[in-house]
Amino acid sequence: MSTTHMTKPTDNQALSKQQPQAPEPQISTLSVHGGELRQKPGDSITDPIFCASTYTFADTQSVIDFIDQKQPREEYGRYGNPGERVAERKLAALEGGEMAVLFSSGMAAIVGLLMAKLNAGDEVIFFDECYHRSREFCSKHLSRFGVKTVQVRACDYDAMEAAITPKTRLLISESPTNPHLSIVDLDRFAQIGADRGVETLIDATLATPFNLRPIDAGVDYVLHSVTKYLAGHNDLLAGVVVGSAEKMEPVRNLRGIMGAVNSPQNCYLLCRGLKTFELRMQRHNENGQRVAEFLESHPRVEKVFYPGLESHKYHDIARRQMRGYGGLVTFLIKDADWRATADIVDAVRIPRIAPSLGGVESLIEQPLVMSYYQCTPEDRRAYGITDNMIRMSCGIENPDDLVADLAQALDTTV
Ligand SMILES: *Cc1c(COP(=O)(O)O)cnc(C)c1O
Repeated sequence: MSTTHMTKPTDNQALSKQQPQAPEPQISTLSVHGGELRQKPGDSITDPIFCASTYTFADTQSVIDFIDQKQPREEYGRYGNPGERVAERKLAALEGGEMAVLFSSGMAAIVGLLMAKLNAGDEVIFFDECYHRSREFCSKHLSRFGVKTVQVRACDYDAMEAAITPKTRLLISESPTNPHLSIVDLDRFAQIGADRGVETLIDATLATPFNLRPIDAGVDYVLHSVTKYLAGHNDLLAGVVVGSAEKMEPVRNLRGIMGAVNSPQNCYLLCRGLKTFELRMQRHNENGQRVAEFLESHPRVEKVFYPGLESHKYHDIARRQMRGYGGLVTFLIKDADWRATADIVDAVRIPRIAPSLGGVESLIEQPLVMSYYQCTPEDRRAYGITDNMIRMSCGIENPDDLVADLAQALDTTV
């Protein structure tokens, strides 16, 4: 069987032989064809789902040849599945990285990467605006294995540099951050790591490879909750880490031991969702911008956090390094306590009340209630979560409908 799947940057040979002058395939082409065999089993245009927990060997010599790495093939489901390999090659191609390792969720990817890379006595430094479970894993669990985590203010590069010691192994940030949508200057972040010999990790879940290219900026590892924009349909959980083959090999090995893998059906759903990745991102970007501009102009709105607005603290960096600004919009309601804010959330008709983001259906939530209800007021203040904050993930609905819906929710709850 020919392996004419498209990968980037190591383009496959059959493809380049046919089209010596062909330019590097772009995102939409990669999301449709990237990582796939040109001729698939059963001559099917779609990738078949291999419902196999294990794979058979013709004879003992085949087993020995496999162990001696003479014969690449599948062995056992925890180490890989043909559909999972397609998804991994597609994600690596989209990200412009050498190797992607797929996990069963974004959190499994974070835990898998950190457990593969850190030893007792090591230190990690991360910007403090981040997904609350990532913070919890570092502060409550890595600490039990003798790894020290240091938090510094988001986008305070001097503080990050000052916190580096000979024991520092990893610098971690999200970009954009959640829910404040702060933008990390990737060139600067990657340069600190390179200068000080410390590896760097960006959780680019909110940006996706359509809007942000961390590997081009020199970041070592890019991580995504694939659950969000990449899968895109609010119907599956997955996570991925992308990096060089050399750096990712230990991560793949640990995943084979952890067992945080996806079912063959889940991999199929993911590849299916990825086919429309660029189309969806274009609409998410358009809807995010429209909704943010509408909210900023509304008298009941005190402040809008959206990197595509000129009023955003990091708009200049965002404009320089991002293609679009995504579908997530965070805003504060003027003179509203938590209940008046909840009334607006309850009054919208199109977005559904739910955690998560990045799917075709718009979602809305009040971070105070959804994610930080059990926190102390002091912790909420430290994380910048106010009672009057609403976070909306714009789906791919019609932008006029979304704006009209928000208008009626704001105007009927005064
Ligand atoms: C959702 C999310 C995660 C966790 O991903 P899961 O797929 O839910 O495990 C990590 N980082 C960010 C930025 C997220 O939004």
